[in-house]
Parts: sequence; structure tokens; C-alpha cells
Amino acid sequence: MVLDGPGLDDFASSDSTDAYVNLLFVPPGAPYAVPYDVAEARTLPREQWPVPRRFTVRRWDSAQRALTIDFVTHGDTGTAGRWAMHARPGDRLQLAGPSGGYRPDPDLGTHLMVGDESALPAIAASLEAVPAGARALVVALVEGPGGELDLDCPGDLTVTWVHRSTLDQPADDALVAAVAALGFPADDVHAFVHGEAVETRAVRRHLLGDRGVPRERLSVSPYWRRTFTDERWREVKSDWLREVETDV
Ligand SMILES: Cc1cc2nc3c(=O)[nH]c(=O)nc-3n(C[C@H](O)[C@H](O)[C@H](O)COP(=O)(O)OP(=O)(O)OC[C@H]3O[C@@H](n4cnc5c(N)ncnc54)[C@H](O)[C@@H]3O)c2cc1C
Repeated sequence: MVLDGPGLDDFASSDSTDAYVNLLFVPPGAPYAVPYDVAEARTLPREQWPVPRRFTVRRWDSAQRALTIDFVTHGDTGTAGRWAMHARPGDRLQLAGPSGGYRPDPDLGTHLMVGDESALPAIAASLEAVPAGARALVVALVEGPGGELDLDCPGDLTVTWVHRSTLDQPADDALVAAVAALGFPADDVHAFVHGEAVETRAVRRHLLGDRGVPRERLSVSPYWRRTFTDERWREVKSDWLREVETDV
């Protein structure tokens, strides 16, 4: 989806290729509309507060003042997914940001990127920053052949598509097996592993524990967690991250 309009006049670009924005959705029945004062909206009863969701900046075109965001929709559920499914030209959305933390290190020879549909916007944006002469290895988990995207990279790109059999269960074993099948030098790799919590955790364990990838060359982020809404996930996320640190 491409967002534009004068509200983006002051949008700052980011150096990070996994840059994301906080989208702020107005809950049904709330007595305010975009644009609104967030602090003021938060003086209302809790159920009327803006509902935040993080989404990647797939592309920012400052000349056209156009911000592209790729939403994964997952049935008619989820504040963001539902909004995106029903959005029409002229609809308005409030956002804050961007922030981010990863960019392929141009001094390293191999760039490994692993993720599901929610991470594909960041993977696609990051591939554009892999220089010619470097190698990019992508392992992407999607529903089936229909979920595969065309990915471009100035470097030498190899993509492995992993098809999940069901969304109800983690596909961590299949994802780890696909990464395990790839050869790369542990001392010359920069790795990006973002997506579902259980799946990113398994790949992290494999890369640090079995492959000897240095911790500082690994960017891991559990963007979402199966069966959890984002609110529920954010409540327990710091405990989860602490637990993940004890794996390896
Ligand atoms: C930094 C960052 C960047 C992100 N970038 C993107 C992006 O560019 N595109 C994108 O689509 N997502 C992205 N995400 C993930 C997105 O924020 C979450 O998936 C979020 O939960 C979606 O909100 P929702 O309101 O649609 O669903 P929620 O209300 O949070 O959840 C409703 C139900 O849908 C399930 N669900 C949530 N996400 C998914 C999913 N991806 N697939 C299947 N089921 C799901 C939940 O487990 C829950 O059962 C990003 C997350 C982070 C932290």
C-alpha cells in the first residue's frame, strides 16, 4: 500500500533497511479522527486509545512523498490486517517514526536473511543494499507458491522458499533445515532473522549454537507471535527475550 499526502512532508528517511513506523489506529467508536493529538487521546478511557502496530518501511520515495508499506493480512482479524484489507483511497492513517537497527554491513561477504511474510518487506529493502560482489542468501517462509515474491539484489542472490503446511503450528523445523542446508563462512556473514517468535528463536539457536555466527553479526527480532495479538505479545515480550538469551 502506498501512503501519500502533506502529512508526510516532514517524514525523515532512515539509514536502516529494516526501518519501521508505528501506525496508530483509531478504535471503533473513539471520539476523534486523524489527525489527532496522541497524548490527548490517551486521556480517554483505555479502550479508546489509539492502537499501535509496527510496520516496515518497504520504500520511502522522498521525491514523490510516497511511503510504501506491505501488510500481511491474516483473515478478517487484527486491527492492522483488517484496516489494510478494507482501506480505500482517501482513508487516513496516523503514524510515528521511523526507527530501525539493521543495514547489511558492506564489509562482509555473505548476507543471510531469514523470515516469514511479515519480514519480507525488510528483507526486500535490505537486499537492495547488498552491494555487487557480495552474496545474499534468503530463506523465506510463506504459505505456498502463491506467496513467493520477486526479489532483486545488486549482489549474487539465492532464495530458498519454504512452504508451511499450516499456519496453526510453527514451521521452525522446516526453516532451520533450510538454513542448515546453506553453506556460508561463519566469520564473514551478517545475518538478519525477523518474523514469528518461535521460528526466529529456533533459527537464532541454530546460527549461534550450531554454526558459530558471532552474536554481534546477528539481528534477531520476533515481530509477532502465533495466537497472540500484538497487545498480548508486547506484555510478555521482554520476558520472552530474556528467556531466548539463555538458549545460547
Ligand atoms: C519492527 C516490526 C516491523 C514489522 N513489519 C511488518 C510488515 O512490514 N508487514 C507486516 O505484515 N507485519 C509486520 N510486522 C508484524 C506486525 O506488526 C504484526 O504481525 C502485528 O501483530 C499485526 O497486527 P494486526 O493488528 O494485524 O494483528 P493482531 O491484532 O496483532 O493479531 C491478530 C491475530 O493475528 C495473528 N497474526 C498477527 N500477525 C500475523 C502474521 N504476520 N501472520 C499470521 N497471523 C498473524 C496474531 O497471532 C493474532 O492471532 C512488523 C513487526 C515489527 C515489530
